[in-house]
Amino acid sequence: MKIHEYQAKEILRKYSVPVPGGEMATTLEQADTAAKSLFGAGNKVVVVKAQIHAGGRGKGGGVKLARTLEEANAASKAILGMQLVTHQTGPAGQKVQRLLIEEGSAIERELYLGLVLDRASAKVVFMASQSGGMEIEEVAHATPELIYKEYIDPAVGFAPYQARKLAFKLGLKTTQINDAVKFMTGLYKAFVETDSTLMEINPFITTKDDKLLALDCKINFDDNAMFRHKDLKELRDLAEEDPLEVEASKFALNYIKLDGTIACMVNGAGLAMATMDIIQYAGGSAANFLDVGGGANQEQIENAFGILLSDPNVKAIFINIFGGILRVDVLAQGVVNAAKKLGVKIPIILRLEGTNVEEGRKILADSGLNFQVGQTMKEAADLAVAAAKGGK
Ligand code: GDP
Ligand code: MN
Repeated sequence: MKIHEYQAKEILRKYSVPVPGGEMATTLEQADTAAKSLFGAGNKVVVVKAQIHAGGRGKGGGVKLARTLEEANAASKAILGMQLVTHQTGPAGQKVQRLLIEEGSAIERELYLGLVLDRASAKVVFMASQSGGMEIEEVAHATPELIYKEYIDPAVGFAPYQARKLAFKLGLKTTQINDAVKFMTGLYKAFVETDSTLMEINPFITTKDDKLLALDCKINFDDNAMFRHKDLKELRDLAEEDPLEVEASKFALNYIKLDGTIACMVNGAGLAMATMDIIQYAGGSAANFLDVGGGANQEQIENAFGILLSDPNVKAIFINIFGGILRVDVLAQGVVNAAKKLGVKIPIILRLEGTNVEEGRKILADSGLNFQVGQTMKEAADLAVAAAKGGK
């Protein structure tokens, strides 16, 4: 689960990690009030920042500095409602529905801090780099030696000597080392206690008066841990997510939208992955990942159909089911009913195996609807690819 920068900064504040003061605004009036109060408090510069679930906003025109209230309001007007395109949003961009109005900082250096769950070492790794403020992926690719790493033993936690090591690698002044250790220790505590999978401070800045600040913050949480964080769960902003994925999550369907033309309906995540692979192997491309789960019922199958059909790119539907807990005849009846009810016009290709497969095949054959059935996964995939290409 992703959250906005302003929400991430509120979390950091709770862990005593210093962040600039600011306020979230959803209207130009709120933005004006926030900017007024920041200038009123003596700030020389106010920053207007687009809040979307993607980085690279600065380059895309989503971060603007203002020296007067008029400038701040002009920036708010330009950014709020804009379709912001960054290297992380895709070409369509993301509509800006929230702003963060923040006190400006006099930046001396832009550094980078990041915490991520490293699967290979099964540890949390703390990363630091002097090359902050830019795309860290670029730095990691071109000059990986400029990213310093400390692997954290889960039984011991983040040791102060590790924080000091990173602080020295960042080339901080000796007077800043203690603050940096506190800063990093706070981040690690926040990371662990919120069940984060990623926490990035880019840039982590030093100011002209020698302070340390998190100027930007990105946090991702582990979805599987959200049941024990009711307060964090409420930070979810559905407006930032793909509408079809939001719809699917209401029905407990594991759905992820992709760019291809062949919709997949599959039971089991492993089979769903294999199905996407075999579509690719057969020369096609999957329109989605969809796991209807082991115990899918009639209603669930109808819901799944509805979601697959709402994607205008879909040219064929490939249903690949191994009947275990989910009996094939139940699935077949569900497919027939849903196809009739929703008036499905695009080709449906099935590959069915498992419990009650013969009954299932009979239901399809007797339905009077035009289903294509493949005897093997490969045969069904070939049929699906041909159907999607030919528009049969
Ligand atoms: P991102 O582009 O989405 O990662 O957004 P950031 O919050 O990282 O902002 C991008 C860049 O804007 C930063 O790297 C800074 O160079 C600049 N910036 C943001 N806030 C301030 C500020 O308060 N003062 C100054 N001088 N620059 C800022
Ligand atoms: Mn940033």
